[in-house]
Amino acid sequence: MNIDGHIVLPDRVMPGRVVFDTSITDVRPLLHNVPDRYILPGFIDAHVHGGGGADTMDGPLAIRDMAMFHMAQGTTTLLPTTMTAQWSDITETLYAVAEIMRSGIPGGPGIPGAHLEGPFISPHRRGAQPAHTLPPAPARVSAVIRTGAVRLVTLAPEVEHADTAIQQFVQAGIRVSIGHTQADHEQAERAICRICGAGGVAGGTHLFNAMPPVMARAPGPATALMCSDDAYAEMIFDTHHVHPALFRLAHRVMGRRLVFVTDAMRATGMGDGPSSLGGQDVMVRDGVARLHDGTLAGSVLTLDQALRNAIQAGASLPQAAALVSTHAAGWLGLHDRGAIMPGRRADMVVLGPDLMVREVWVAGRRSA
Ligand SMILES: [Zn+2]
Repeated sequence: MNIDGHIVLPDRVMPGRVVFDTSITDVRPLLHNVPDRYILPGFIDAHVHGGGGADTMDGPLAIRDMAMFHMAQGTTTLLPTTMTAQWSDITETLYAVAEIMRSGIPGGPGIPGAHLEGPFISPHRRGAQPAHTLPPAPARVSAVIRTGAVRLVTLAPEVEHADTAIQQFVQAGIRVSIGHTQADHEQAERAICRICGAGGVAGGTHLFNAMPPVMARAPGPATALMCSDDAYAEMIFDTHHVHPALFRLAHRVMGRRLVFVTDAMRATGMGDGPSSLGGQDVMVRDGVARLHDGTLAGSVLTLDQALRNAIQAGASLPQAAALVSTHAAGWLGLHDRGAIMPGRRADMVVLGPDLMVREVWVAGRRSA
């Protein structure tokens, strides 16, 4: 099979043809009759709770529904993300994700694991996470590792048992992301060193959100993440969670280490109105989801919108495509995808000249 269009490569946009079966077999330039559309690597979302009315915590059917919703917006790989909740609800959800990893979602996106966001976070920086935080005691960490589902964990490095938890997660090949944290700059730096020193991959969960701010004499975890040579960091770039100027700053400093995520909740794609997150009432107004006290409650972002926001903020199309795909593939160790390149999985998104999603291909199969 093949698709012609303007192919978004890591460093440029090339008019050409992508030839593929389940993987991409050839990428070649075309001089004439190139359709007015863009071909991008399929989007990868490392942090997504829900969408289309469904939430990861509702069980296997809801995980399928929310995955199919996001696939229609160009996401070809995602990590269903848990909320801080009753311990049994969290482990049950992880087993549900493990089951889906085994069976796959027919005609759906790739699910290479779950993102465990809470309960191992700071009770003082919960954001919209319910008040069921727990310290990462070794037995609890072993229990979530045993589910086989966790690919990425968000952890506050200052909480009790965090150091041993980091060792356990890294030994299990799980990426450790610093987030929902009160850590100061030094604590965050030490945690990054500890993760990388143990042979792991370090990151930060939604940079600038649910962590102390950057101040002149207290640079905080955001600065530790940005200035690290190794750490990745997520960003929710719906332009409400992070100001465009801070996106530009982080992008300039971090390059391929900055990863766009949605942190999308159930209400995504459902328009304005009441919804819920982790059993709490949420109101969505003008595309912003808030708890009753005004706390931002996840987002209603999709990655195709994040891509358009990045371009609006000054990024080039290859840069924006990398932010929603290539960088996440690097962060998650998914080296078989995240670029339009021979040998990679044929995960592709076709955008019209208006940058709206027209077609989605997963492993060479037209899926939306
Ligand atoms: Zn989240």
